[in-house]
Amino acid sequence: MSPETGVSTTAAPVDAVVVPDRSVFIGGGWVSPDDEAPLDVVDPATERIIGTVLDASADLAHRALLDAREAWPAWAALPPSRRAGLLDALAAELERHGDALAELATHEIGMPIRESRAVQVDLPVKVLRSTAAIARQLAWDSRDASGSSVVREPVGVVLAITPWNFPVHQIVAKLAPALAAGCTVVLKPAELTPLNALFLAELGRRAGLPAGVFDVVTGTGATTGEALLQDETWDMVSFTGSLAVGRHIGAVAGSRIKRATLELGGKSPAVVLDDADLDLAVRTTVRNCFTNAGQKCNAPTRLLVPADRLHDAVRIAAESADAYVLGDPLDPGTTMGPVVSAEQRAKVLRFVDTARAAGATVATGGTAVDGTGFFLRPTIVTDLAEDAEIVREEVFGPVLVVQGHAGEDDAVRMANDTPYGLSSEVWSADEARAAAIARRIRAGQVRVNGVRTPALPVSPFGGYGQSGLGREMGPFAIEEYLEVKAVLGDPVLDPTATTAAPAAAGQDPLA
Ligand code: NAP
Ligand code: MG
Repeated sequence: MSPETGVSTTAAPVDAVVVPDRSVFIGGGWVSPDDEAPLDVVDPATERIIGTVLDASADLAHRALLDAREAWPAWAALPPSRRAGLLDALAAELERHGDALAELATHEIGMPIRESRAVQVDLPVKVLRSTAAIARQLAWDSRDASGSSVVREPVGVVLAITPWNFPVHQIVAKLAPALAAGCTVVLKPAELTPLNALFLAELGRRAGLPAGVFDVVTGTGATTGEALLQDETWDMVSFTGSLAVGRHIGAVAGSRIKRATLELGGKSPAVVLDDADLDLAVRTTVRNCFTNAGQKCNAPTRLLVPADRLHDAVRIAAESADAYVLGDPLDPGTTMGPVVSAEQRAKVLRFVDTARAAGATVATGGTAVDGTGFFLRPTIVTDLAEDAEIVREEVFGPVLVVQGHAGEDDAVRMANDTPYGLSSEVWSADEARAAAIARRIRAGQVRVNGVRTPALPVSPFGGYGQSGLGREMGPFAIEEYLEVKAVLGDPVLDPTATTAAPAAAGQDPLA
């Protein structure tokens, strides 16, 4: 309440963002054709329809790509500092509308509101700002040891295809570096969570992004995703999602010698050494595994503990799992929401049932919650063969498997015994020991003693093995969206310029 007016200061701002039904965002505004198929968006906690978007046709998809193609030259010609300024402006819009966006994301995914605020608003804001800062410092036009110029230029039009689990974060992880690099972006968000993407497009318009720089077309993978993918208008595809779809997207890109970055799944280990604080390690791993009801590509889903502590570890994990409060994700007291859909719930239960049938022990959970919403009890599984399906495949739900190891070498062997390699965790009281183990694990990230994503989200994120190709976050992310040109015998026009000076990219066409 404001003491002067008695009016609640948490009310929606006068300029609240409204996402219109049956519309896509192309050319700097809403496009609402009446001959496109509709697609309902369902709240997984209430099972109610919260909006209707379009299952965009190939024609509409093509229109978006052409629009992005047209917008590209002027965007690419802007000085990098100008593009960075617009990323900062988008971050400010996100902050201004953060409460509404967090709430919308919670309605779409079922993620507890506090997690939504942290991952769908605060993290994207930091990613936009840190990417802008890096873009301002990048050596866009530099000299190498031979005296040749090395010029970094945008790849062109980027097709971004994203999943539903951390939708705003996963979009911004592509959008920020692509725009910073000077690419334009056409986004196809997941069919289950398209509303936050359309919301973000409107924030982009308000931030001053020129028309065509960021278009959003909604729809299913089979219709809209496939139409965009088969269209020859894009120069690069950036995908986050499942291994099966990633393999298909990579094959199409490869057949055209187009660049693809693929951020795929994981089956990440948490290695607990014999000198670690078992209680802390297990409780923290459960928490990190069950964020967003376990629908997290880098979740530590395999807990590897010393074999003689397995019994204790399972007991602590089950206690931690049983302490979750399932319920309305908008209620601040809720610590676990539903999984995203009835299909996802059925898929997770199939994994648990298969494990049970093969003789595994389900220490707790493993069942659906009766009633409205796609709720699942947090689940701890143990007594598993190393080649069990639930040990090897990504479940994408609140399921943690606990296994025993026979010491350091065995733990490293088990950790690396996976087709994936996205993330991993190491727990030890001895920092030198943890650091040495971290260097033996084949994964894109290793987190020591439960450390979470740092406040400055610039460390590279991406996978070894079948977890994908390429990196997101920080300077490595911007490089993915850049071509590199060598100019041999380039005359030195400005002898006072330093090698790391940003390019003077000529006139600013938006000035
Ligand atoms: P997905 O099927 O791989 O979808 C990711 C994105 O690709 C979605 O936008 C999807 O559209 C689109 N897509 C699907 N088929 C396509 C095609 N032929 N051409 C172009 N785009 C296509 O993943 P999901 O449906 O979101 O989830 C399925 C499983 O993937 C999960 O259960 C989980 O195991 C895994 N997953 C992994 C991650 C990760 O970060 N590594 C994230 C989410 C999911 P639709 O929305 O219509 O499917
Ligand atoms: Mg899918």
